[in-house]
Order: sequence, then C-alpha cells, then structure tokens
Amino acid sequence: MNLSALDHIVKNNPELIDENVPAKADSAATLGVAKLVLGNGGNVDALTDKQRFHFDTYILPLIENVECDGVFGPDMENGEDGCVGSGRIDDEDLEGCYIMDEMLCQECQHVNHKMQED
Ligand SMILES: [Zn+2]
Repeated sequence: MNLSALDHIVKNNPELIDENVPAKADSAATLGVAKLVLGNGGNVDALTDKQRFHFDTYILPLIENVECDGVFGPDMENGEDGCVGSGRIDDEDLEGCYIMDEMLCQECQHVNHKMQED
C-alpha cells in the first residue's frame, strides 16, 4: 500500500474515497479509517474488523495495484484496456499520478508525452 498516495487523497481529494463507497455505506466512516491508518503509519492490524473491511474494500484499491487508465482508452472489441504497459501503476509512481490527476503507468505516461510533443 502507498501511504503517501493515501495522504494526498485524504488531504486533497477525499471525494475519491467517497466515490468508492456505495451510497448505503457510511463514507464518513471510511474517511475516518483512512485517517486512522495514516495516523498510525499504515498499521492495519490495529483496525477493528469493521474498520478493516472499510479499508480493504474502499481504500486499498485506491493505493495498491491501481489500474492504469491507458492512453488510448479501452477497446471493447478487442478486449484491450488501452494500456501499453503492465496495466497497473507502479507503487512509486502512484502519488504522482494522483497529484497530476492522470492515472497512467510509466509506459503510458511516456507514450502520452510523446503524443503531446508531436
Ligand atoms: Zn498503462
């Protein structure tokens, strides 16, 4: 998991967590769990079962094994996701993606910048 990405989301873009929580669940509680994990340095073992559920279900997908949006957009016909790389964003690139608001893996970022240069 990427705590600095989580920190960025909680401080600047908490609606990302909000959007991940279904309407019937309590998104304020999920945000509380995110802050708790940040506060204890990522120690998810300290969470209660209920908090852990919030964390694993609504928060972890935002900060671990995050899918690359792809530069070309998904191609439903060929079943391709539009990503030229592994389809996942590297942990070390993740915080930058949230800062840039561009959910692309390194390979796609490279292609994207090349296309913008042309
Ligand atoms: Zn990609």
